[in-house]
Amino acid sequence: MAFGKRRRLLLTAGGALTLGAIIYVIAAGSHTSSNSKEIAFSDFLRLIETGAVAEVAVADQAIEATLGNGAHVLTVPPSGYVAANPTFVPDLVRRQVRVSVRHQAERGPYSISTLLLAAALLGVVGFALYRVTSGRIPSLENRTRVAEHNSSPITFADVAGVDEAKDEVKEIIDFLREPEKFAAIGGRIPKGVLLVGPPGTGKTLLARSMAGEAGVPFLLASGADFVEMYAGVGASRVRRLFRDAGRHKSCIIFIDELDAVGRRRGGNSLSHEEREQTLNQLLVELDGFATRPGIVVVAATNRPDILDPALLRPGRFDRQVTVGCPDLKGREAILAVHCKKVALDQAAELRSIARGTPGFSGADLANLVNEAALIAARGGRSTVTNADLEAARDKVLMGVERRSLAMSETERVNCAYHEAGHALVAALVPHADPLHKVTIIPRGRALGVTMQLPEADRHTHTKDYLQAQIAILMGGRVAEELFMNHMTSGASNDIERATDIAQKMVCELGMSPLGPMAFRHGDEERPFTLSEDSARRVDAEVREIVMRGYTVAHDLLGTYRQAARALAQELLEVESLDGAEILAILQANGAPSETAPVRA
Ligand code: ADP
Ligand code: MG
Ligand code: ZN
Repeated sequence: MAFGKRRRLLLTAGGALTLGAIIYVIAAGSHTSSNSKEIAFSDFLRLIETGAVAEVAVADQAIEATLGNGAHVLTVPPSGYVAANPTFVPDLVRRQVRVSVRHQAERGPYSISTLLLAAALLGVVGFALYRVTSGRIPSLENRTRVAEHNSSPITFADVAGVDEAKDEVKEIIDFLREPEKFAAIGGRIPKGVLLVGPPGTGKTLLARSMAGEAGVPFLLASGADFVEMYAGVGASRVRRLFRDAGRHKSCIIFIDELDAVGRRRGGNSLSHEEREQTLNQLLVELDGFATRPGIVVVAATNRPDILDPALLRPGRFDRQVTVGCPDLKGREAILAVHCKKVALDQAAELRSIARGTPGFSGADLANLVNEAALIAARGGRSTVTNADLEAARDKVLMGVERRSLAMSETERVNCAYHEAGHALVAALVPHADPLHKVTIIPRGRALGVTMQLPEADRHTHTKDYLQAQIAILMGGRVAEELFMNHMTSGASNDIERATDIAQKMVCELGMSPLGPMAFRHGDEERPFTLSEDSARRVDAEVREIVMRGYTVAHDLLGTYRQAARALAQELLEVESLDGAEILAILQANGAPSETAPVRA
């Protein structure tokens, strides 16, 4: 094993050398003027700040600048810098700097055949490397990304809907602004902050905005960067990260996805030795930092439960800040932040879009606005309208429309009655969420969709609500039976979901005559086996609940046959109806305007 490792390392090093030589040859070809002077990247940024730069050519690995006095300079940005700083180019343009991008094809004196040859060589070396290292190539360069001189930093204004988290980190920002003042008072400032929350809620964004607000450099590394299969590489990266930080008077070190490196120790996976070494190094560095004023370590995770407890001890990540999914007001604020970046129509109602996106994270909402802008552009509009936002929301929620899917006419008719069944029950059964939209345009994997939207965010569900939900799910199948005289496989997902809800009600929520008990099958952690008798009674109760929903749906659809027919016909005609349209059709055909009383 030891021999294998060494041989692998040797081979890798040899390969890396060859690779380096090739890259050097190619890169050398890309510098059109060979007499430009190479300068440090920070000096380059300073030159821009002072307005000395007239022209900039951005290539993959280097930036060439022409100064006002005609001199050429060359600089190499940290890897990924341009991609990580989307404002870099716009800022240059704003400062009247001419910006051009150098493409591969324009590369210097090298002919196509040379490039092809180099590419082939690269391929061979890459393949060899891949074979020896089984796909993992350790890169010895540091992966810390520093965004020091960001000319338009991210601030609190860019982060919305997480006011409590912002309040909690404010203290740390004050401290970073004037560390001396705090040191004089002698209070202990939290040096390690752990941002905890589901993916896409803005943890990374919040950390960046902390640096922006405090006006200090932001050193970013991802936990995954530290996880390598080669012993010692991860630990040395951690050391380097903290050494880099030590060069600044004050700064924020941000470790994204801490759980990748911070997992509880003592596992027995193959790479656990390396991971432990890395984690130990991290703990050592964190302790060393307790004595350094002006430097704060921030980390983010969505799995605080799997972190090694040692990470959470006093002096380390002892301050936890929860970054949760936004509520209605938060979603509206986040939409507003992202809509500022697009040309928004005056009449757009962000509040109503926010109401229709329960459970969306900040990233989902950013995505929604982006989709809406694309939809508007595709439609040739100059502004993003409310309809574009709604279309984007429906696309994200229900999947993309598949208008091209060929459905036979019988299938279409069946689908129309099936959805009309869901919709009528949803409209008339008490305790249900209001109808949002019904469509028989195939979306994602579904042939048709009936969609309800809650009026406010729901955090808990009543028994009545859950039973109404089951009745609505049964509405599709019941309509097929009543109006088409057959059953189709289209109801399988409805049946599955209804059964799931009923099972939860009986086994977890204590909403059946079996009482407030948890009935579960045993697993490794909590051995609990259902007695045969209990299992039988659970099954009977689940069946009872599902059948009650079925009966409710049957009663409603049987009583208001005419209304269901009219709804299906209209769906065949226009394919999509919104909530208000559906209610109008139902009422015009004999259905009550209020929810109908239901036999218990
Ligand atoms: P996380 O790190 O929690 O997974 P990110 O910070 O990477 O989430 O969020 C991804 C993107 O989603 C952000 O760049 C931003 O555009 C958007 N976003 C997420 N949360 C928010 C928020 N609270 N306010 C504004 N934008 C947000
Ligand atoms: Mg993140
Ligand atoms: Zn259905």
